[in-house]
Amino acid sequence: MDKNKNLPAFAIHTLGCKVNTYESDAMAGALRRAGFREVAFSEPADVYIINTCTVTNIADKKSRQMLHRARKQNPEALVVAAGCYVDAALQNPQMQAVLRDSAIDLLVPNRDKGRIAELIAERLFGGGESREQKGQGQDGLFVTELDGHTRAFVKVQDGCNQFCSYCIIPYVRGRILSRPVEDCVAEIRNLAQQGVREVVLTGIHLSSYGKDLLQHKTSGGTAGPEARKSDDIMNGGDAPLLQLIRAVQEIPELRRIRLGSLEPRLMSPEFVQALSAMEKVCPHFHLSLQSGCGETLRRMNRHYTPEEYRQSCETLRRYYDHPAITTDVIVGFPGETEEEFAESRRFAEEMGFYEMHVFKYSRRAGTRADRMEGQVPETVKEERSREMIRLSEEMSRSFRESFLGKEVEFLCEEEVEIGGETYGQGFTREYVRCLKKGRGFQKNELVRGAASEIFKEKAVYESLILR
Ligand code: SF4
Repeated sequence: MDKNKNLPAFAIHTLGCKVNTYESDAMAGALRRAGFREVAFSEPADVYIINTCTVTNIADKKSRQMLHRARKQNPEALVVAAGCYVDAALQNPQMQAVLRDSAIDLLVPNRDKGRIAELIAERLFGGGESREQKGQGQDGLFVTELDGHTRAFVKVQDGCNQFCSYCIIPYVRGRILSRPVEDCVAEIRNLAQQGVREVVLTGIHLSSYGKDLLQHKTSGGTAGPEARKSDDIMNGGDAPLLQLIRAVQEIPELRRIRLGSLEPRLMSPEFVQALSAMEKVCPHFHLSLQSGCGETLRRMNRHYTPEEYRQSCETLRRYYDHPAITTDVIVGFPGETEEEFAESRRFAEEMGFYEMHVFKYSRRAGTRADRMEGQVPETVKEERSREMIRLSEEMSRSFRESFLGKEVEFLCEEEVEIGGETYGQGFTREYVRCLKKGRGFQKNELVRGAASEIFKEKAVYESLILR
């Protein structure tokens, strides 16, 4: 008898980063291919999967809460804890309680996400009683269908060797592991053939893409230029990340390529020049800053100075007319004085970001920053966060305003109804949201018009209105 026949419903809830989102899409695809039926998390399901996050103590708490919510929704369901929170618990004796949590039936660490359909089927249809899986090696995840989306996130790299002092990820996801170019291209080509027009190449530390592949090559006996220092960011005109982007750019159906978060040190003139020669690469770059104060960066164990960061932005602006540069900033890092915060704020303002994602420093047990003196009180973090968010909103508005009166093009994603009117909606290459009034817009159509005003919706989104 086919075990997959009449298999039950599953629901997935995802916490954390874009890589986790990609992995949830891939797990859902694997379960659907195995005959499972996907339902919303709020609906009754036979299997609940929480794709967890452990980046801060708060992320741990949210992961726990979702696991318990799933158990409550259906006490008979199979509740699966997958991902980083599980890896952290397996490695950290202080988190062993997670392994005994009665809300959880099955623990699936990151490396076993690629086998999730098999592991769940084993639990439901006989065999495995063990809560902990003992798989090895690469996760083997890939996404095969994305339900008519214009944009897809594709994970090309996992792991990190950087050891920022506030981050647990290198301990949880392990060292750099890059997917070979052919694998990534095959997955993206398949998605493009199904209608995806924009791909976001994503990784835990995308700037390290291919470093491990080169090391394998060199340890296999290839001498010469590939033999580089192990902690180098490979940022020349022949960087492996560029080789990957060149191959992705050859996919005919694909129109746009965006890059996930990058290190400022990657932006050498050779690298940026090579990028700017590829017309599908969008002029939208997320360069992680974290702080604009050199002292704070040093305590964070970030491997660049504000001056190097400034040079990276200048290089981008030399090769692109009007790039959208976005970033992440942490406020209230241990030891951050009023002066350090003011320096960070001044620097951010000087860089003229399009968007700044502001995070209040959140402690993570097991990291160096958690053991540092000078933890900043929550009320101070709150105040600094408000101030940075205000600055971010001002900078975003001024970036959007720079398009007013100009001809703008966006890639249409869908038609939306706002205030009784129908609009075509999509994003420019700089990732500015646009709306154009009218009907009959087609998904994946390029729409043009003159940007005439800025429209504020629900106090969150600001969009350009095109005439
Ligand atoms: S670069 Fe730093 S913050 Fe990012 S995953 Fe690596 S250690 Fe964490």
